[in-house]
Amino acid sequence: MNRYPYDEKALEKEYPLAARCARPEGSIIAVGDVRIGPGTLTLIAGPCAVESREQLFTTAAAVKAAGAAILRGGTYKPRTSPYAFAGLGEEGLRLLAEAGREFHIPVVSEITSAELLPLFDGIDMLQVGARNMQNYALLQALGRQKKPVLLKRGLAATYEEWMASAEYILREGNPNVVLCERGIRSYQSGTRGTLDLAAVPVMQSLTHLPVLVDPSHAAGVSEWVSALGRAAVAAGADGLMVEVHPEPGRALSDGQQALLPEEFAQLAEDARRIAGR
Ligand code: PEP
Ligand code: MN
Repeated sequence: MNRYPYDEKALEKEYPLAARCARPEGSIIAVGDVRIGPGTLTLIAGPCAVESREQLFTTAAAVKAAGAAILRGGTYKPRTSPYAFAGLGEEGLRLLAEAGREFHIPVVSEITSAELLPLFDGIDMLQVGARNMQNYALLQALGRQKKPVLLKRGLAATYEEWMASAEYILREGNPNVVLCERGIRSYQSGTRGTLDLAAVPVMQSLTHLPVLVDPSHAAGVSEWVSALGRAAVAAGADGLMVEVHPEPGRALSDGQQALLPEEFAQLAEDARRIAGR
C-alpha cells in the first residue's frame, strides 16, 4: 500500500469495514448515554486499578464532578512482573459496576481473555489493552458481542496493524469500536512511552472510528500527563483517558503517573476550552 499519501482504494480493499470510506461522516459510538465521536469530547478517568471500595468511590465522585463521562478501573491487570498486583478480578468488577450505578456513570475495564466475558456483565465498555491488541481470538470474541470496545494501540503497532485489529472486531458484527493511542516504544527512555500524536489525525483520516488518547501511560510520570493531554485535544482527539488516584503514593499500580483529582479537574477544564466544548 502507498503510505504517504495513503491509497484510498487499497484501504477500502484491506479494511472494508474500518476504512474511512465505509462511513465518511465518522462513527458515533454509544457507551450508555455517552456518545463518542465527531463533535464530542469524552473524558474517561479513574484509577489504573480498582483497589478498594473507598478508593474507587472517592475517585469516581471526584472525576464525575470534574466532568468525566466514563469511569475507568482495571480489574484484570496484565503486569510486566508476575509478582506485581494483578487486580481484584471479579470483586473489582463488582465494585466498578456498583460505582457506575451509584454515580450514574458508564464504566470501562480491561478484559484479558474471552472466557471472562460473562463476568463483565455489569461493565459498559470493554477495553483491549496494548499487550492484547493482536490477540485475534479475543478480538473476534469481542466482535461477536455488542458492547463497545476500547481498542488500545499495541506498544509497537503500526497504523495498519491497529486498523487490522479493529477490522477483526467489526468483521464479526460489532460496529462499536473506539481507538486509543497510549504511547509507543521508541529509542528514548525519558518517558514511559512516546506519545504518537500523529496517530490522531492519521487514524481519523484512515478510519471512521473515534480516536482517544491516553496521556498517562505515554508519559508515565504525573508531571507530564496534563501537557500531553492538552496537546492531544489540540490535535483533534475525540477524548482522553486519564488515570486518577486520590493518594497516588499509595496506589497499587501506576501511582507515579496518576493525577490527583484536582489536577484532573484542571486538565478537564483546559481540554474543554481547547476543544471549544
Ligand atoms: C491501562 O489502561 O490500565 C493499561 C494497562 O494500559 P495499556 O494497555 O495501554 O498499557
Ligand atoms: Mn495503568
